[in-house]
Amino acid sequence: MSVASILDERPELTELHAHVGGAVDPAIMWSIAHQQGIRLPTKDYWQFVELITVTHPDKVNNLAEYDLIFRWTELIQSSPLAIERSVYEIIGGAYRKCNITTLELRFNPMKRNREGEQDLDHIITAAIRGQDRALLEYPQIRSGLILMMDRTFPLELNAIIVEKALRYRSRGVIGIDIAGPPNPDFSYREHQHLVERAREGGLGVTIHTGEEGRIEDMWEVVEYLRPDRIGHGILSAYDERLMATVRAQGIVLEICPISNLRTHAVRDIEELRTIIHTLRAHDVKFTINTDGPQMLQTSVVKEYQLLLEHGIFSDDDVRAAIATAYEASFLTRLCHI
Ligand SMILES: [Zn+2]
Repeated sequence: MSVASILDERPELTELHAHVGGAVDPAIMWSIAHQQGIRLPTKDYWQFVELITVTHPDKVNNLAEYDLIFRWTELIQSSPLAIERSVYEIIGGAYRKCNITTLELRFNPMKRNREGEQDLDHIITAAIRGQDRALLEYPQIRSGLILMMDRTFPLELNAIIVEKALRYRSRGVIGIDIAGPPNPDFSYREHQHLVERAREGGLGVTIHTGEEGRIEDMWEVVEYLRPDRIGHGILSAYDERLMATVRAQGIVLEICPISNLRTHAVRDIEELRTIIHTLRAHDVKFTINTDGPQMLQTSVVKEYQLLLEHGIFSDDDVRAAIATAYEASFLTRLCHI
C-alpha cells in the first residue's frame, strides 16, 4: 500500500532515462509484432508478456541477461511503422498514467534497422513522426529523443549514430548516449572526439556507466567524456573522490532504483538506501527514473513510492528530485539557448 504523499496531488513529472525498448506496453508490442508478421516464440499473449518483462526479482541475474530481453523488443520495433507507433504510444501513455510532462526517450536506431536492411534515416524520422503525433495530441508535454551508441559497436558505427543525431537535432533529437551490453574491450576514451562533436553541435550528453562492473569505467567517462548526465552512476557512492569530481563537474546522475534491484546491480533496499544517502551527503545531484517502465513493470510514480515507503525519501526529497530532473533535462537546457 502506498503512503499518503505529494504524489497524491499528481505533480507534473519528468522522466530522463527510459529506453524505447523497455517502455512500450506489452499489449501494443503484441499488436505491432502481429501487424508485421514477426515470428514469435509463442502464440500465447501471457507467455509473450513473460518474455519481454522482468516480473520478479529472480528473473535476471545480471545486466547481460537483462540486455537479452531487449533483443525481442528491438526486433519487434525494427521498422519505421513499428518505431513510430512505439514512440507515439510511450509519450501519450506516460502523460495519461503518470502526468509526465517532460520526457526523454532513448533508443539505438541501428538496433532497429534489421542489420542494415532498413534505412536508418527512415527509422529515425519515423521515431520523430511518432513523437510529433503524440505532441500534437498532448501539447502539455515536452519530449525529446536521445540516440544511443553501443558498447558492442565499432567506432565507425557509433560515429554514424552521432552524425545522425546532429542531422536531426532541429527536429526532435536532443542528445546522445552510450549503452548496450557490457564489453571488456570497449573504450569510452576512444569516443571522446565523437562526444565532443555532439556537444559542440548542441546535443546533450548522457552516458551509461557506474551501474555495475568496474568503477574505472566511470572514472574514464567523467575524465574524458565529461557528460552532462550519467545513466546510473551508483558505483560512485563507493568512491569519495569520484563523487567530488562528479559534483565539481555538475554531472547529474540518472538513478533507476527498481531497474537496479531487478538486475541485481543493487543487492537490496538497504544497499539502495546507503547509496542514495551517501550521494545526498556528498551533494551529488541525482534524479529518479524507470529505465524501462513496461519491461520492469514500474513507473516514475512507483519509483518515488518505493523510496517513500522505505523511508529513503521524504516528500521534500521527492519535490527536490522532481525539480532536479526538470532542470537537468536537455529540453529545459535547450529552451534557454
Ligand atoms: Zn538504461
